[in-house]
Amino acid sequence: MADDPVHLVAVIGAGPAGLFAARALAATGARVLLLNRDIKPGGLAEYGIFLNKYKMKGGLRRQFHKILTDPLITYLGHVTISNKGDLTVPDLEALGFDALVYAIGAQGTKYLGVEGERLPGVYHAKDLVYHYNRLPPFSERPFPIGRRVAIVGVGNVMVDIANYCAHFTDCDEIIAIARRGPFEKAYDDREFEDVEDAFDHALYREEIERIRPRLVAAGQNPDELLAALAAKPEGSRTRARLRFRFLASPRRVLAEGGRVTGLEVEENRLERQGDRIVAIGTGETSVIPADTVVFAVGDRVDEDAGLPYKDGLYLTVPGEDPAAAYQVLDPAAGKAQPGVFVVGWARRASDGVVGRARLDAETGIRHVAGYLAARPKRPRAEAERAVESLRKTLAERGAAVVDYPAVQRLEAAEKARAAADKVEEFKFRSDREMLDAIRS
Ligand SMILES: Cc1cc2nc3c(=O)[nH]c(=O)nc-3n(C[C@H](O)[C@H](O)[C@H](O)COP(=O)(O)OP(=O)(O)OC[C@H]3O[C@@H](n4cnc5c(N)ncnc54)[C@H](O)[C@@H]3O)c2cc1C
Repeated sequence: MADDPVHLVAVIGAGPAGLFAARALAATGARVLLLNRDIKPGGLAEYGIFLNKYKMKGGLRRQFHKILTDPLITYLGHVTISNKGDLTVPDLEALGFDALVYAIGAQGTKYLGVEGERLPGVYHAKDLVYHYNRLPPFSERPFPIGRRVAIVGVGNVMVDIANYCAHFTDCDEIIAIARRGPFEKAYDDREFEDVEDAFDHALYREEIERIRPRLVAAGQNPDELLAALAAKPEGSRTRARLRFRFLASPRRVLAEGGRVTGLEVEENRLERQGDRIVAIGTGETSVIPADTVVFAVGDRVDEDAGLPYKDGLYLTVPGEDPAAAYQVLDPAAGKAQPGVFVVGWARRASDGVVGRARLDAETGIRHVAGYLAARPKRPRAEAERAVESLRKTLAERGAAVVDYPAVQRLEAAEKARAAADKVEEFKFRSDREMLDAIRS
């Protein structure tokens, strides 16, 4: 009923975790305010999933549209909550929400401590992914890709970066570098199909022979890999060739005159420790020539968001209680901050696909609902006044807040542009262009 009493909850971040959290909260009857840094909702579903996965992105956008048109959910985009944002965490706490759910993803960069990691021509995968998926401000900065690209990491994000380099740039060679061996690869075979046309079988066989003694010493059978390879058709359609370099840990990015020339790596051997295979450095180094280096090694959460932080993660309550893992810790008190929760990649950085973020959000919201059950509700009209008052505060602070009807106008303008340009998808490159499109 429109005037039934409600709980008022803010969800911060409108990626998959925040959106599915909002949906689960609304299903309990809560009034939800969804605050999002980007103008558009979707997070990495909008700005991470590979460029031409139109069907998958379209399906997700349709689900998000349903959530964002729920009358219990108000979307306010282009609002950052952080120490340097439009609102700080204490600002939000002072507004008297019944609960706060942080779903802000993993926006920090994981540096490995490798010398030269911040040189021009060295990128962190998330930044490059945001660039080619047109998320401002990354979309506005050049990310030149050279002829030989070394990608550190062998997960699904490596596959996306290799896909981008092979099909959307002029590069000749892509080298995927793994600390461990081919049996420990982290990418899914389904995802790898997107780069099969660049995958060089002869170079793979050569690499397996190079590391054969080290695989055998770890009890692994290289012939299994060669048999699996023989069963696959060889790709020969892209100019760029994709190869692997296994058992190599990056030690130093080499540069001359400010330009990247290669990546120095340390050779590893493999050792079985219990049920794990670990890489052990041998001390022997070699250089992989490259003019571009991309680190695709996962991300960490944003240290400046204002939540208690340690070693790339936000602090949650320790202990066996399943709810604890979703409750943000008050480090001074050594217990949960009442009503403050974290879900999705903000809780476990770089952990899995959209389905997993949804599950994590839904699980988290069950614990939020448990917490809310003991709290009094407020009249619906009072909740509406609180939402309006926050909109006003943001406007007074000069934030160009974008609500969901405005997002829909933006999407319509982008669709019209795509149709005029006869392309599958068009995205404005800057916040300014998006805001202009919304206003016109
Ligand atoms: C390169 C790449 C490719 C991927 N491809 C696929 C795929 O093909 N299929 C698949 O299922 N999954 C894929 N994933 C995984 C999927 O994108 C994630 O599982 C999912 O997006 C995580 O959701 P999240 O909401 O926790 O975080 P995010 O998607 O990162 O969303 C975080 C949201 O929080 C907002 N935000 C951030 N900081 C703040 C702040 N301070 N204040 C306010 N708002 C903030 C952001 O604007 C964003 O909207 C991919 C991931 C990557 C990195």
